[in-house]
Amino acid sequence: MQKVILKKKSATRGIKVPENKLTEHNPIEPLPLPQKVIIPMQQHIGAPCELIVKRGTKVKTGEIIGKAGGFVSAALHATISGEVSGTTKIINHATGHLTDAVIITSDGEDNWVQTEPAGDPENISSQDILNLVSKAGIVGMGGASFPTQVKLMPPEGKNIDTLILNGCECEPYITADHRLMLEQGGKILLGLKLVQKVLNPDSIFIAIEDNKSDAITHLANLICEMGMQDNFKIVPLKSKYPMGGEKTLLTTITGREVPIGGLPLDVGIVVHNVSTVKAIYDAVYEDKPLIERVVTVSGLVNEPKNLLVRFGTPISALIDYCGGMKENANKLILGGPMMGIAHFDLNFPILKGSNSILIEHAAPIIESNCIRCGRCVYACPMHLLPYMYVKYAKTHNYNACQDAYIADCIECGSCSFSCPANIPIVEYIKTAKSELNKKRTRK
Ligand code: SF4
Ligand code: SF4
Repeated sequence: MQKVILKKKSATRGIKVPENKLTEHNPIEPLPLPQKVIIPMQQHIGAPCELIVKRGTKVKTGEIIGKAGGFVSAALHATISGEVSGTTKIINHATGHLTDAVIITSDGEDNWVQTEPAGDPENISSQDILNLVSKAGIVGMGGASFPTQVKLMPPEGKNIDTLILNGCECEPYITADHRLMLEQGGKILLGLKLVQKVLNPDSIFIAIEDNKSDAITHLANLICEMGMQDNFKIVPLKSKYPMGGEKTLLTTITGREVPIGGLPLDVGIVVHNVSTVKAIYDAVYEDKPLIERVVTVSGLVNEPKNLLVRFGTPISALIDYCGGMKENANKLILGGPMMGIAHFDLNFPILKGSNSILIEHAAPIIESNCIRCGRCVYACPMHLLPYMYVKYAKTHNYNACQDAYIADCIECGSCSFSCPANIPIVEYIKTAKSELNKKRTRK
């Protein structure tokens, strides 16, 4: 075991946040299938999908309904069987843009589309793995929703020598990946082996925060039982926020720094999330497309849970299954309290990137002037000057934000969390980024 679990490491930056992992001991429960799902055609970074069904089309579970709209895109599938009962427009909460969405009404059967066996997964070729990942519509499930097949195909000239499996789950409340590691660890390791085959790195690290010691022990035991101790090493990490941020994580483990404006692959590293790798297992071993995920429902609900949910299920169905909201609840967040996005609509559907639903009580916050205490600077894992973005954004000087490397901000929320003046720094940052984006697309 000693050989499998390496020495604990700690990030040089980062903050301590209340963990509130209320559901860490709650096993994953499948949510009963919904009567209706709403599936937006854009749930990923990149081009939206091309809709290939119309009103009245009968669909089976797992059947493709949206073709990838380009190289950087991910196919979409029916998540229940039934009939396409209409289309609608829905706001993509991440971009703020309207996107087309398909409504499927259930036939109550959950009839699956016929699958084709992929042959022997142990001897499958790299190209076949890539094809199956692409066919299954897999995206990064840690929140970024970047199409996975693109991340598995580094551009010419980029040599990947290190693969990191991200099991940190540093956001407070969320326990979806933690439970997946405990309950589906063997499948995660087999999925990781498939990624190893495609990327052929020299080293593979499984990164897990030390507040999940049960997952560390469990995966270490499985690695030994499955004879993978020469391939995979577990790196326990001191629990700190945002330990799971790709750049923080890879610097802590390898000591390498991603250059300004760069990507992990610029320093020879690829990072994948545990849920993504489990989805790769499903695609290759079971020819199963990405149609569901584990979602933590926590905060002010009567029975917080980890649920296995089909995409397109309305948030209200999850909250009802968790016994409803507590009396003082008044805020819905998609994601965790640090990086999540506040939302207003309980009918909004669960998407590929939805790892959590958090219900909170929000009291009015009074923002005061910056006192130049520097806490936001100290908290920033990206070595940025967050208070400067506030100053520039307040005067609409977005070019100055750009010159101060705002693109490197990972929107982790550590600066806002640390600010004694209650300045919603990330909100200013998001506004500045969106204005800069608009300017770029106008050119
Ligand atoms: S500036 Fe960005 S990266 Fe730095 S702490 Fe704030 S949100 Fe995080
Ligand atoms: S933490 Fe808040 S008050 Fe302190 S320097 Fe940053 S923005 Fe100003």
